[in-house]
Amino acid sequence: MTETKSSTISVGQLRAVFNGKVIAPGDAGYDQARTIFYGGFDRRPAVIIRAADAEDVSRVVALARETGLELAVRSGGHSNAGHSVSDGGIVLDLSEMRALDIDVEKRTAWVQPGLTAGEYTTAAGAHGLATGFGDTGSVGIGGLTLGGGVGYLVRKYGLTIDDLLAAEVVTADGQILQVDAKTHPDLFWAIRGGGGNFGVVTRFQFRLHVVDSVVGGMLILPATADTIRSFVAAAEEAPEELSTIANVMVAPPMPFLPPEVHGQLIMMAMLVYAGDVEAGQRAIAPFRALATPLADMVRPMTYPEIYPPEEGGYHPVAAGRTMFIDSIDRDAAELIIDRLQTWKAQIVATQIRPLGGAMARVPANATAFAHRGRRIMVNVAAIYENPEEGGKHEAWVDDFMAALRKGDSGAYVNFLVNEGEDRVREAYPGPAWDRLAAIKRRYDPTNLFRLNQNIPPA
Ligand SMILES: Cc1cc2nc3c(=O)[nH]c(=O)nc-3n(C[C@H](O)[C@H](O)[C@H](O)COP(=O)(O)OP(=O)(O)OC[C@H]3O[C@@H](n4cnc5c(N)ncnc54)[C@H](O)[C@@H]3O)c2cc1C
Repeated sequence: MTETKSSTISVGQLRAVFNGKVIAPGDAGYDQARTIFYGGFDRRPAVIIRAADAEDVSRVVALARETGLELAVRSGGHSNAGHSVSDGGIVLDLSEMRALDIDVEKRTAWVQPGLTAGEYTTAAGAHGLATGFGDTGSVGIGGLTLGGGVGYLVRKYGLTIDDLLAAEVVTADGQILQVDAKTHPDLFWAIRGGGGNFGVVTRFQFRLHVVDSVVGGMLILPATADTIRSFVAAAEEAPEELSTIANVMVAPPMPFLPPEVHGQLIMMAMLVYAGDVEAGQRAIAPFRALATPLADMVRPMTYPEIYPPEEGGYHPVAAGRTMFIDSIDRDAAELIIDRLQTWKAQIVATQIRPLGGAMARVPANATAFAHRGRRIMVNVAAIYENPEEGGKHEAWVDDFMAALRKGDSGAYVNFLVNEGEDRVREAYPGPAWDRLAAIKRRYDPTNLFRLNQNIPPA
């Protein structure tokens, strides 16, 4: 074993202290261990520690405190902003902490943050149960939950945090705290939307719902101003059992699309009706009637099937912006068409997520995620090959966002990239920001957890 020394840490000594694996520059597997989902982040941490348990996590936190090195906390590694890898600092990798304990009778689950949304969903699905996460199986439950969690059950059961019952949190002073609505209620409030600012969550306890079979899958329609506007209207009118995500994009050469559609604008929609099959088919009929579908893969399925297997090794480089808007009228739909049609990149897309339902019934001050009343989340993105072309794509998404939201504000923290403190503040409207900053001062006064969408201590 090679003894690698940075200016402040001795990797040999660390290996003796940690139960989990310690990976340093030069080790086999170092390059893979420093790779995250998004490409374009070529960072070289001094050490990567794959914690085995909460005690290891506490020791990593102490190490970061004592050395002053930057600390990156990683669960599933899907941070849009590259926050799950540090250049020269410490990466606390939680991916080996994978315990899952489902109480079928009580419909609750304790889970460590190393599980992905897909893995948790498959395990819970074996009992006909589910907790709602996002639209992608490979995303980690750690980061997703701490930012809020918006997915296929959002209208029926709310955000992921609306099913969070308790958590175990390692705070900046290294304490391992049990946190729920009664114990450390301020911290419990803050971790439901406040991201990784307040400590490292080593266990989550979730509520499970009976979600046995659903009617779900992909429906692809031609994208026109009319179909976009009508899709959103139909989604808002649909029963709450139905949650939808529409991706308007230039059609890639997907095998199930006729060749003449490749390169044309399409609306690739994901629909999930969590309930009775017949009622589901009725709820989905208006979407099928918007235009002749280019592909229709919506069918009765078990809920875990909504997360198809994903190929590893995909590391897109992306420019993206997230926003909330309250309607998509004809002008907005035309703007989307126009912007997507006129920009060249590997993929250009606008994702539209109609919200409402159970998510909107939770009072805005009940959790740190305060955008309860917003009706539609929109993400615009350009995925490109040459990292040197980032500047022009960043400018394009900025301009697109400005045109679409017309001076409105608001952002979902989990889709923010590196956009500065003002944008982080947009994630926490009204009194949420000040309350979070005060809680931050209490639990992390030195801002040890700062490689994130940062809320500096008040
Ligand atoms: C392809 C893709 C699809 C997505 N779809 C959705 C979606 O449908 N809905 C949605 O809500 N979001 C979605 N997201 C956004 C996603 O929720 C965030 O990127 C989230 O941060 C990813 O969590 P992770 O654990 O994989 O990320 P990581 O990169 O591991 O973590 C991100 C950040 O979260 C914090 N963090 C992670 N784990 C912990 C922990 N255990 N304790 C303390 N802090 C922690 C850290 O600050 C870390 O930097 C998507 C992202 C991608 C890339």
